[in-house]
Amino acid sequence: MSIGPIVKLFLNSIILKVKRNFLKIFGISILSTILFPYKFLYSATKKIINKNLTIEQKNILFNEGTERPFTSSLLYEKREGFYHCANCDKKLFSSRSKFDSGTGWPSFTEALPGAFKTKIDYTFGMKRVEYHCSNCGAHHGHVFEDGPSETGKRFCNNGLCLIFKPIN
Ligand SMILES: [Zn+2]
Repeated sequence: MSIGPIVKLFLNSIILKVKRNFLKIFGISILSTILFPYKFLYSATKKIINKNLTIEQKNILFNEGTERPFTSSLLYEKREGFYHCANCDKKLFSSRSKFDSGTGWPSFTEALPGAFKTKIDYTFGMKRVEYHCSNCGAHHGHVFEDGPSETGKRFCNNGLCLIFKPIN
């Protein structure tokens, strides 16, 4: 029996593998070339404006982190005023929409018009609606459909992402 056909088969399988890998690498590079401008646009919308942000604030605002519940001093804030983005200072919530949800995070029944952009978040196997500051792209929290007022919304916001400015 000759070894020729076996060697040929072996060589063919190697060539096939190389071809397949080449296609894979080639395909990925085409895909990343197509997606590059979008990636750039997405990262361009998220920018650190406040240079004094702490590591914890940056982790929430730019890495979709979450602060520990019942740690925010804003939970007990009852004065009239507005809640601004800790990164870019955009006005996000009025104190009139704030309520005590009992969850341990500052909660609001509605945001000011145009304050946020939303995105579906599938982390931890749950489908949740995540929202970002429409001005700087920083992550703030999640919005749920079980709010107590006629809006039906509950904006669950990390206190570290907000700065409260009283009216008086
Ligand atoms: Zn912002």
